[in-house]
Amino acid sequence: MSGLTVAAAQRCVIAAMKRLGAESVPLQQALGRVLAEDVRANRDQPPYDVSAMDGFAIRSADVASAPAVLEVVEDIKAGDMPQKVLAAGQCARIMTGAPVPHGADAVIRGEDTQALTEGRVQIDVSVKSRNDIRDRGESMRTGEVVLPAGTEITPGVVGMLAMVKAAQVPVYRQPRVAILSTGDELEGLDEPIDANKIPDANSYALMAQVQALGIQPVLLGIARDDPDHLRGLLQRGLQFDVLLVSGGTSVGVHDYVRPTLEALGVQMQFWGVAMKPGHPMAFGVAPLTWVFGIPGNPVSSMVCFEEFIGPALRRAMGHQNIYRRTVTAKLARDVKHKHRRTEFVRVMLARDEGALVATPTGDQGSGILRSMAMAEGLMVVPASSQGVAAGAEVTVQLLDGTAYQGEAGGEW
Ligand code: AMP
Ligand code: MG
Repeated sequence: MSGLTVAAAQRCVIAAMKRLGAESVPLQQALGRVLAEDVRANRDQPPYDVSAMDGFAIRSADVASAPAVLEVVEDIKAGDMPQKVLAAGQCARIMTGAPVPHGADAVIRGEDTQALTEGRVQIDVSVKSRNDIRDRGESMRTGEVVLPAGTEITPGVVGMLAMVKAAQVPVYRQPRVAILSTGDELEGLDEPIDANKIPDANSYALMAQVQALGIQPVLLGIARDDPDHLRGLLQRGLQFDVLLVSGGTSVGVHDYVRPTLEALGVQMQFWGVAMKPGHPMAFGVAPLTWVFGIPGNPVSSMVCFEEFIGPALRRAMGHQNIYRRTVTAKLARDVKHKHRRTEFVRVMLARDEGALVATPTGDQGSGILRSMAMAEGLMVVPASSQGVAAGAEVTVQLLDGTAYQGEAGGEW
């Protein structure tokens, strides 16, 4: 089993995936989803010319040779409509966001004025026409597409949707995901500690990787290395959009996953990828379900999720950007590489005089989850590499949590 290249396996998965149908969700639950339809402005924003400042609405010609003294004829608050039309020599006190009265063509901020007695104000500066006026429709115009289909819903997009009164939002459906661990040696989270067993970490690490995409998966539990028990649980899993099966994908005598999936009608697309960790990775398609066979070693499981399953789930949810962002970093120390496989090395990232530096997190054994738990990124060593020397530029895929840093970044 040498397997496909990582890139070929990714292409195979993504070609088989399709975007799920659309549904409507309340705005309060739309964060992280993807818009399934264009969203248009339902009115002009702002709805009329409004003041950008607290100050006075004036006629710019009146202040051409400032200072000038004007008569204050009205006080316009945000939410009020002006009652008067300004004539020469007149102005109106106005608040930010309030409509500019007819006759006025500019706003002067309060700081550039001095209050006088008897309803008058002195304007200290002259300004051009349209000064500090926000034009009607400046933010959006009625009927204009303000958010195209395919937009990922971030907090800023939630604000825009509220602005156009989209209480219900058309989004792509999320895949329903089931997770099944397999292996007689596994001990469930709720079971008592048995010195001869291995705790089932994969169900939970995979669960968390799915949750990080905003999807709540269903844990099907642990299948014993017994064809009948396995078959029953796989049948349940094949009711979901996506089934993740961890363990039992190698060629050991007790690895029943492959024959059982095939007996249940799953068409395997590939079995084995030229990568480390994660070699015995498999992918198949059933009438209702995309099935991922994931190697049991905990790090392999997480890395296979990163390379194949996360992108596939994001594709199903309608995302356009499905792969982890990569950055270029300088490698802190030599990394050996003799396999003819693409290797994913767990690294931490730090800044050194502006450059990002990648340091391997320690023992890279595929069972050593601790070095994955500490990782901020996966450094990609191409299959053809003969090893990477300290100081070389390397490509690192960023993992969750890398959007934050300890210091604000400067005295700003
Ligand atoms: P397998 O892919 O079933 O051959 O398993 C490879 C290695 O991963 C074995 O040492 C298993 O004990 C371990 N393993 C399999 N499944 C899990 C799991 N759910 N959690 C933690 N380790 C596992
Ligand atoms: Mg096993």
